[in-house]
Amino acid sequence: MSGSRDRERGLELKVHGLDCAEEVAVLRREIGPVVGSEEHLAFDVLRGKMTVLPTAREGSLDEIRRAVSRTGMRAEPWRESGTEQAFWQRRGRTVSVAASGLLLAAGFVVHAGLAGGALAALAGEGAGAVHAVPLAARLLYLVAILTGGWFVLPKAWYAARSLRPDMNLLMAVAVTGAVAIGEWLEGATVAFLFGLSHVLESWSVGRARRAVESLLDLSPDTVRVREGSAESEVAASAVRPGTVFVVRPGERIALDGEVVTGASHVDQAPITGESVPVSKRPGDEVFAGTVNGSGALEVRATHEAGDTTLARIIRLVEEAQARSSPAERWVDRFARHYTPAVLAFAVAVFLLPPLVAGAPWSDWLYRALVLLVIACPCALVISTPVSVVASLAAAARSGVLIKGGAFVEAPARLRAIAFDKTGTLTEGRFAVVEVVPFDGHDEDALIARAAALEARSEHPIARAILAHAESRGVGFTPAEDLQALEGRGATGRVEGKAYWIGSHRYLEERGQETAEIHRRLEAISGAGRTAVAVGDDQHVCGLLGLADALRPEASATMDELRGLGIRHLAMLTGDNLPTAREVARAAGIDVVRAELLPQDKAAAVQELVDRYGAVAMVGDGINDAPALASSSLGIVMGAAGSDAAIETADVALMADDLTRLPWLVRHSRRTLSTIRQNIAFALGVKAAVFALALAGVATLWLAIAADMGASLLVTGNGLRLLRGHRTAREP
Ligand code: ADP
Ligand code: MG
Repeated sequence: MSGSRDRERGLELKVHGLDCAEEVAVLRREIGPVVGSEEHLAFDVLRGKMTVLPTAREGSLDEIRRAVSRTGMRAEPWRESGTEQAFWQRRGRTVSVAASGLLLAAGFVVHAGLAGGALAALAGEGAGAVHAVPLAARLLYLVAILTGGWFVLPKAWYAARSLRPDMNLLMAVAVTGAVAIGEWLEGATVAFLFGLSHVLESWSVGRARRAVESLLDLSPDTVRVREGSAESEVAASAVRPGTVFVVRPGERIALDGEVVTGASHVDQAPITGESVPVSKRPGDEVFAGTVNGSGALEVRATHEAGDTTLARIIRLVEEAQARSSPAERWVDRFARHYTPAVLAFAVAVFLLPPLVAGAPWSDWLYRALVLLVIACPCALVISTPVSVVASLAAAARSGVLIKGGAFVEAPARLRAIAFDKTGTLTEGRFAVVEVVPFDGHDEDALIARAAALEARSEHPIARAILAHAESRGVGFTPAEDLQALEGRGATGRVEGKAYWIGSHRYLEERGQETAEIHRRLEAISGAGRTAVAVGDDQHVCGLLGLADALRPEASATMDELRGLGIRHLAMLTGDNLPTAREVARAAGIDVVRAELLPQDKAAAVQELVDRYGAVAMVGDGINDAPALASSSLGIVMGAAGSDAAIETADVALMADDLTRLPWLVRHSRRTLSTIRQNIAFALGVKAAVFALALAGVATLWLAIAADMGASLLVTGNGLRLLRGHRTAREP
């Protein structure tokens, strides 16, 4: 599978040397023309991965690899972890940087021992003065520079050739410049520290990546398969759907499946974030990565290991990083102007004071070199994706699947939220509580008719009617020519005759309503129940009243959302207005739009967007797709086990749990403020060094050390978001 051109996922490559957003720009420029356009490329800086999307024109693997090596980087087909890499590939940079450090130290000893003045040089005193550096020390420094800069030089060379100065070139220039003015120690220190900062950076980025992976990859590698009375341990990846496996008490479940025998409670927190274990009996669905309680279960696998809900979540989180957040895009744009600006400024600082005021050249060259170091935007640029990834992973762990970096920030800014009623604010589990047959029908006949029309429907109302028929022992044959009317009801034929079932609105549309029927329908829905009518072409056979319980957490959640500053909460529903009003009152929502068809819901959401800008639509995924699409942020509830729901959403709440919404808003705000802290800190450090450089008191190595420190701190700060999932479990 490795590196093959996959129809769906494209050609995946590991790019050695891709560890900063700067390199992404370089690769886009160089590989873009080879595959048709830059748009066909996707990057995952954290994993050093470049994907040539399936939309790309066929560029051959060799062509692409050649183009990559022109940039001073190296590409090879992507392999999922676990494959062996040669020692030099894994540790080459570390080894050469370590060598650089040792040589630097040796050079310093020789230098200090023979000339005595090196301490002064290290302190930056008399920067620019030519020290008498002994030949032996110079040689040691030179090799320290080469080993420290070994992995940087090819990239610097590419930047020089393509006339696009980047950090690597700047560093090469700075080091050469330092050596040219006789600052050997300084030059070697810079080369070493720059190499070291790369090693540390890829270490901390690697740590971020591993933390994310371990947070998500929870399913065991083996399952115990039952064959007759014998059990055997088998690799989870070898199990085909349909195979029955045994889950012992306390064990983590390895594959998605359906319980065949046994009863237990399963802790589904890893998938849904729910704190309370969920009861499982035969017929129930269980998910890979969740933890079995005290009962033993036998489970029939429903998906292969690579296709479980957990595997899909992991894949979606990985893909989500590629859809960069607004902050990331801002930083990228900023970096594009920042680096050249500082660069131009450095040139001015080098040239102007000596030319205009006759200041000493070497003095200002040195200050200009320090500015070059500050021009490196890496700390700034890497902090945001690390924060975003940590945030995505923590959310996924809490049962909130955010499908793009772009949607990480959106919840923080919401001004209004529209809720679907059925299945979102309510449980979506209807029960038939009123049966009102009209003349010539009895209750059972009415129920049989309704059930016949609902036989093929997945709608919660349909399921309630079928369950009711079954519990009363009413037999029926499914109607023919069944036709679902989205948001209204259904039609079909029973014994050759056309019948329909549907909402009050649908009845009105058919023009079959009488004053008496209207009054009775209003009476049912006034009590907060959903009223449904059944009829044929001539008359109405009767009415059904269905009750659906408000989610217990609904009203408290609305208060919490308002407390978070989201003041405009609206309910959109296809149900009758009186029913809707009653549910909204109980939930504490003041704006109600009822009797809406799916397209009306979309229009209603659009109105909210026009009015408030950032509007989320929360639905259960059943015929809400248009409304979800017209919102700024489409949120689907209860998505675990429903691929379609996950598909349509920007954010999928795996559990049926409204409390995830305020959590999401808070999590998003936390993420945003972490990103802002990081940007402010990284820029602040630069500004400070900048001022020191102009004042002539900053040394090159101080500038690099500050940059390196800033990188480590912002990465660490971003990783703190991984802990977000703890707070999510609190009730
Ligand atoms: P909601 O907007 O509350 O999610 P829907 O858009 O699914 O509800 O349906 C709107 C209304 O249409 C329901 O309240 C019901 O009266 C009617 N309806 C929809 N589907 C069916 C069905 N299969 N059987 C009976 N009535 C239905
Ligand atoms: Mg609905």
